Amino acid sequence: TLRLDRITRNFGGPASASGVAPLPALGGLTMNIARGEFIALLGPSGCGKSTALNCLSGLLALSSGAIYLDELRIDTLPPEQRGFGMVFQNYALFPHMTVAKNVGFGLLMRGVASSEIETRVKRALDLVQLAMHANKLPGQLSGGQQQRVAIARAIVIEPPLILMDEPLSNLDAKLRLEMRSEIRRIHGELGRTTIYVTHDQDEALSLADRIVVMKDGLVQQVGTPQEVYGQPANLSVARFMGYRN
Ligand code: ATP
Ligand code: MG
Repeated sequence: TLRLDRITRNFGGPASASGVAPLPALGGLTMNIARGEFIALLGPSGCGKSTALNCLSGLLALSSGAIYLDELRIDTLPPEQRGFGMVFQNYALFPHMTVAKNVGFGLLMRGVASSEIETRVKRALDLVQLAMHANKLPGQLSGGQQQRVAIARAIVIEPPLILMDEPLSNLDAKLRLEMRSEIRRIHGELGRTTIYVTHDQDEALSLADRIVVMKDGLVQQVGTPQEVYGQPANLSVARFMGYRN
């Protein structure tokens, strides 16, 4: 179980003319996430989704609160000791390395033996259906294929938690739908706890076991897709869930 205990993050910055401190980017998120759950963080631009995700990965320090993984406090650990798999919006692949090298890089850094790297990279590439592209460079792949490489790179380390920040927002509408079912299939096969950031209501509704609806750094509602869609906790959730782009 992953337990978030009132985690907050402020960016400081100048107080406004009235002397009021700026609102926290993340104003106190508390929740328990069970092993294998697929959680979507949903909300408009600037509501604090990436801040929450980066606090989990360790790229950002908390301002207050604590994070526990199976009762072990982890918010004081650096990112590499948390060992979570990250998938970024812009893929963040190494352009000069082959697909296989990109996927195996994290294992190499961890000192895994080369024969084992080979086996695990092959398994990860099979899972994202890219085995035949193993020796290409990222630039020779389509956007959707590059995003699959990024997913393979996150899952190959067999992390307890996979964090994805708007992984599909760079793709065209058709690829986005295709990759959505791909992500659902991969989650079904691996059963890894996943936290998925998106501003797209349809994506959250179709992928997640539970959705965290955020606004201005604050959690508005946590619930199943049926709950947040059918019984929105307040007007802002109702408006946001009803909005289509
Ligand atoms: P988007 O959907 O546009 O990616 P988001 O929900 O991920 O938005 P965050 O990036 O978490 O939003 O930002 C939340 C708030 O914190 C915003 O008001 C943003 O301006 C502020 N913020 C984020 N990062 C920093 C930073 N490094 N320094 C100062 N303020 C920041
Ligand atoms: Mg963001």
